[in-house]
This record gives sequence, structure tokens and C-alpha cells, in this order.
Amino acid sequence: MRDTVSEFEERRAQTWRAGKYWLGLLLAGIVGAVIFTKTGSELFAMLFIFGGCVAIGALFLVMRRGYRCPACEEILDDEEGAILLFPRACRRCGAKLRR
Ligand SMILES: [Zn+2]
Repeated sequence: MRDTVSEFEERRAQTWRAGKYWLGLLLAGIVGAVIFTKTGSELFAMLFIFGGCVAIGALFLVMRRGYRCPACEEILDDEEGAILLFPRACRRCGAKLRR
């Protein structure tokens, strides 16, 4: 039986591997939207904004699927529902997530 800390590290690495391309698309979407808004190409700006929105949705799904407490499978967020990037312990069951 693996401890929750190393299991969580594994899950975080997997979430990062799945999420980094969407994060790249999100950044590209923001940069593209800014550039094309400045140059007045509304159609291209809309396309990049759309790409950014798709990326946000995909990131959300990736986080919800994989970024969970290894002990109780609860999503690791705070009281306001914001995802915690460096949680010390699970808010629900108290499992240790960091050494
Ligand atoms: Zn938990």
C-alpha cells in the first residue's frame, strides 16, 4: 500500500502531463486574441478567444478527473471552490499530501 503523499505526487504529475497542452493553448489563445484585437482582425481574435475558452473547459475537466485526494477521492479545493495547487492535506479526510 503506497502512502498518500507519493500517490498524490503521481496524480499531480499525471494531471500536469494531461493539462500542459491545454495550458499552452490557453496562453496562445490569450496572446492571439490580444494581437488580433490590436490589429483589428476581429474574426481571428474571436477564433483565439474561442480556443482559449475550449482550453479552460478542458483544463477544468482534467483537474476534476485526476486532481483528487488519493484517500477519499475528494476534489482538492478550498471553501470557495478554488483548486489548491499545493495542498498540505486533504480538507475532507485530512490525508497528508505533502512531505
Ligand atoms: Zn481525502
